[in-house]
Amino acid sequence: MRPQTAKAGPSLEDVAARYAVAITPAMAALIDPGDPNDPIAAQFTPDVRELDALPHERADPIGDDAHAAASCLVHRYPDRVLLKLVNVCPVYCRFCFRRETVGQPTAVSAAVLEDALRYIRADANIWEVILTGGDPFMVSPRRAAHLTQELAAIDHVKIVRWHTRVPVVAPERTTAEFAQALRAEGVTTYVVLHANHPRELTPHARTAIARIIDAGIPMLSQSVLLRGVNDDAETLESLMRTFVELRIKPYYLHHGDLAPGTSHFRTTIERGQALVQTLHDAASGLCQPHYVIDSPGGHGKAPLAPPSARRTQDGWLLRGRDGAWRRYEDPQ
Ligand SMILES: *Cc1c(COP(=O)(O)O)cnc(C)c1O
Ligand code: SF4
Repeated sequence: MRPQTAKAGPSLEDVAARYAVAITPAMAALIDPGDPNDPIAAQFTPDVRELDALPHERADPIGDDAHAAASCLVHRYPDRVLLKLVNVCPVYCRFCFRRETVGQPTAVSAAVLEDALRYIRADANIWEVILTGGDPFMVSPRRAAHLTQELAAIDHVKIVRWHTRVPVVAPERTTAEFAQALRAEGVTTYVVLHANHPRELTPHARTAIARIIDAGIPMLSQSVLLRGVNDDAETLESLMRTFVELRIKPYYLHHGDLAPGTSHFRTTIERGQALVQTLHDAASGLCQPHYVIDSPGGHGKAPLAPPSARRTQDGWLLRGRDGAWRRYEDPQ
């Protein structure tokens, strides 16, 4: 298949040779083939623009390598670690910030996982373990249950947080058995769902989400601000309202990372700020995610929402939902 025929130059084969490509039946079924700007297709269909890596883009855009503690652990903040459980995903998002490493079928071996658990057991400051990948929901219920129990047995680990796209892109994998496998006595489990467009939240996805929450597990969301997918006020508001309607508390809206070949997805920070300001003025507080950017080099996430309080020479100004700034005297 070579859609951009006739023209010499980079082809989709070159993209596929460079980056992992996959889409699930659930997502393929959502694409409207008549719409050249379909927001689902844009997220999963390879594009020759991915070969245009810009000089300021980086293979490791959020500086994970600078904080690697064991081969599958990133320890950036004292109280929590990231544990990359697998390198595979059911889909490969064209904007993925780990696009240089996902898709390689190198499973995390039992020995590497045991190393990671030893590291976590040895550091009593680690309060939370964040499971990521790839997509950690790709493991079997048996492996998920085993890992949950190992973590629950560590006294100082109180929270286990799974970051996943599976309930949306491959909802049939989120069985009641899998949801049960995420729970154990001695630890509290959270699941953070990655979804970027309200259409991703299909009836099947909603059933998968309900299985998790009905098992007693609270859910949060994370979305990436993507040009042509969700960078308009109406889509963003609808996405956040849909999360809340499904009992998912919006958590993060990520500004696009500087992953190689993803500049066609990025908006400016000014555009993102205008969008979250509009969302703030229009929708319930339940619908407000934190708009954040990961600082390149591994210095953590920085909040990007424009401030609603300003200090001036003669006191404070507060911004109202009508956009007007009003004076506030801070009583001493
Ligand atoms: C984003 C991130 C976390 C989680 O941060 P929260 O703000 O707690 O969601 C933890 N470790 C690393 C390395 C991260 O990049
Ligand atoms: S599901 Fe997450 S890790 Fe996997 S390709 Fe998409 S953004 Fe990357």
